Amino acid sequence: MDQTDSKVLLVDDDPAMLRLLSKWLERAGYSVQCAGDGQQALVAIESDCPDILVTDWEMPNVNGLELCRRVRRLDLPHYVYIVFLTVKSSHDEMIAGLQIGADDFLRKPVREDELVARMRSGARVLELERQLSQMARTDPLTGLMTQRTFYEALEREWHRTARFHLPLSCVMMDIDFFKRVNDIHGHPAGDTVLKVVAELLTNVSRNSDSVSRYGGEEFCVMLPETTEENAVIWAERARKRLAALQIVLAGKEIRITGSFGVSQQSPETQNGAGLVDQADQALLCAKQSGRDRVVRYGSLNEENDVDLEASERKGGLFHGVAAKHVMAPVVVCLREDETVGQAAEFFLRSRINSTPVVAADGRLVGVLSEKDLLAAVASLDCWQRPVRDVMKPNVICYDEETPIRAIYEFLCRVSIRRIVVVKDGRPTGTIGRGTLLRWFRNLVISKGLLQDHEVRSIEEDLDPHRSKERLAETARELAHQASELQSRFGPDEAIEDLVPYVVGGVTGMQELVNDLLAYSRYANQSAGLTPGMYSMMLDGGQID
Ligand code: GH3
Ligand code: MG
Ligand code: MG
Ligand code: MG
Repeated sequence: MDQTDSKVLLVDDDPAMLRLLSKWLERAGYSVQCAGDGQQALVAIESDCPDILVTDWEMPNVNGLELCRRVRRLDLPHYVYIVFLTVKSSHDEMIAGLQIGADDFLRKPVREDELVARMRSGARVLELERQLSQMARTDPLTGLMTQRTFYEALEREWHRTARFHLPLSCVMMDIDFFKRVNDIHGHPAGDTVLKVVAELLTNVSRNSDSVSRYGGEEFCVMLPETTEENAVIWAERARKRLAALQIVLAGKEIRITGSFGVSQQSPETQNGAGLVDQADQALLCAKQSGRDRVVRYGSLNEENDVDLEASERKGGLFHGVAAKHVMAPVVVCLREDETVGQAAEFFLRSRINSTPVVAADGRLVGVLSEKDLLAAVASLDCWQRPVRDVMKPNVICYDEETPIRAIYEFLCRVSIRRIVVVKDGRPTGTIGRGTLLRWFRNLVISKGLLQDHEVRSIEEDLDPHRSKERLAETARELAHQASELQSRFGPDEAIEDLVPYVVGGVTGMQELVNDLLAYSRYANQSAGLTPGMYSMMLDGGQID
């Protein structure tokens, strides 16, 4: 720091002393302000914070020691270097001054050259302090705010927008498959890509927005006075530009995409961190539904109560279990070129309320729910339109081999109710909250994980008579559903009319079979089956 940039505040109750010192300091290139006591000095500091404060000790109102103490308690934009200029000279007094936060002592009477030399040494300290705080505030690679600075800005903006009832949005972006960039092109190339992305995000933002490097290849942007809807427009623009970027390094072209999660503060959002967490949940959905897309938190539209601690404790239950062990198999999918009318007919007859949609080659391309159909059928011309026009193209999907724990955590964390399980891009099953709940219940019971006294209703279930009753009831229901289904196979029924009944009926029967297997745990207890025999039975029933 050049001394000509430094602002000095001189504080002394002796006007002659103030005149003399300011003349010397101005001559040395400092810009000088004066105050007659500590009280005046505090006012001056709050309105225009000096770099260096030179203060007398003995003064009316607020003395030098008290001034020093108060300055150190203020939340100032930068560090103030404090020098005592005093006739006080005892060791005890010097120690008291230093302990309260003084940086240096000058004894009166002072010489001009010494005063100026001490100012220069103060300026050196200030420059180091400035560099350090700059390093903590900005990410050295991209020059963006660090996560810490971002949160400071977010907290300020949170309070300001709340006070004036203004919207506040947040966008979380994560580069897709960034690890591959490092793996293929090397870490330095990865660094360059990060810089380019930082620049792009800054360029699409307004001055009032805050762009931060949140972590490795994750960026978080705060958009003040912006609704979720407009934040989505912003994110879409950024996403498109990112996808269109051609980064050429060492003659090789690098293309990247990014996934975006968008959120706006709502009455349920607790604070800035909550807003970021919502954007993060939306980002998770963007990743899981195929990447290179924008998902807004509002579209997840339910509150969720996540107890990840509890899920941690459940770690043992998940061991070795994959999606394919838990999923409800997909029996029939809609094709994207089928009409809305056909889809409606299919839903009504099979009594299912959502189904994966596939392309002609069987690859998963979307999901269609009753809700989508309901929204579509309001216009009459829609009945002939293809399903692809009204389905949701963003499907959260997981490979069959995905550990069930990942899916459990996802369904706990976000408000999406159901995910599709795929193998080689083709849907093979679905896992919903209900599927998981059922799986848990059956698992817990079958493994005898609950102590008798833990859950009263289960305790009751463990009564062998009750178990037998339940088994009989369930078996009867299963038989009933099977014969219902069978009765549909009359000689006149066309096969295409039968399929929806088979789908609906068999799905229900599948659940009954699972229940039967779980209830047989009670039978196991009374009949004295060995655990080995029991687990063989369960293997067939996708419980264990
Ligand atoms: P996804 O689409 O799921 O986000 O996949 P991904 O590969 O982007 O995510 P993952 O979290 O597996 O990998 C992130 C990578 O980012 C791993 C890490 O080495 C890299 N990374 C983090 N910080 C830096 C950095 O400062 N420079 C470089 N070159 N790479 C970084
Ligand atoms: Mg005095
Ligand atoms: Mg990534
Ligand atoms: Mg990441």
